[in-house]
Amino acid sequence: MTDTQKATIADRYASGETLRAIASALGVDKSVARRKVMAAGVRLRPRGRPAGPQMPCAVAECWSAARGEHGLCNLHRQRMRKHGDPRRERWPSLRERVEARIDRSGECWVWTGVRSGGGYGQVWARRRMRLVHRYVYEQLVGPVPEGLVLDHLCRNRSCCNPAHLEPVTTAENVRRGLNGVLRGAA
Ligand SMILES: [Zn+2]
Ligand SMILES: [Zn+2]
Repeated sequence: MTDTQKATIADRYASGETLRAIASALGVDKSVARRKVMAAGVRLRPRGRPAGPQMPCAVAECWSAARGEHGLCNLHRQRMRKHGDPRRERWPSLRERVEARIDRSGECWVWTGVRSGGGYGQVWARRRMRLVHRYVYEQLVGPVPEGLVLDHLCRNRSCCNPAHLEPVTTAENVRRGLNGVLRGAA
């Protein structure tokens, strides 16, 4: 092996060629090629890392190299896994989580997330389950008066359109519910 060959081993490796390819091209042992690369101070790529110039992270303004799935760097892949969006740095707020799960294509604002046994939308907030229609009403209209419950005028319990909700007493809510059942049975 000539001196030029020795010098180029590290350069070729640094430019993306594999040790195996370089070794077979120069007719030397792979372990010899590896020693030359290390002696030249070029860092060895971890096994299984594809050779060749590294792809940049798929997030446009990120300068880190993409690794593994999604073509994202470690940081952005972590965010993707945690929050479902590589650009999201924090957990979505309660409001964002609620907004993302309401289908407002029809008259009723239909909750598409988890529902209670009774059919009401539910969402976790501060370690407890909250009723979604009540949360939406409080956000868009105001607090539900003390002692009153929200009645669904549309009889669609998964609906959280505040225009379909009316604060009533529990007795009134039960009476309306029973009327609905009796009408349905008739
Ligand atoms: Zn990135
Ligand atoms: Zn409705």
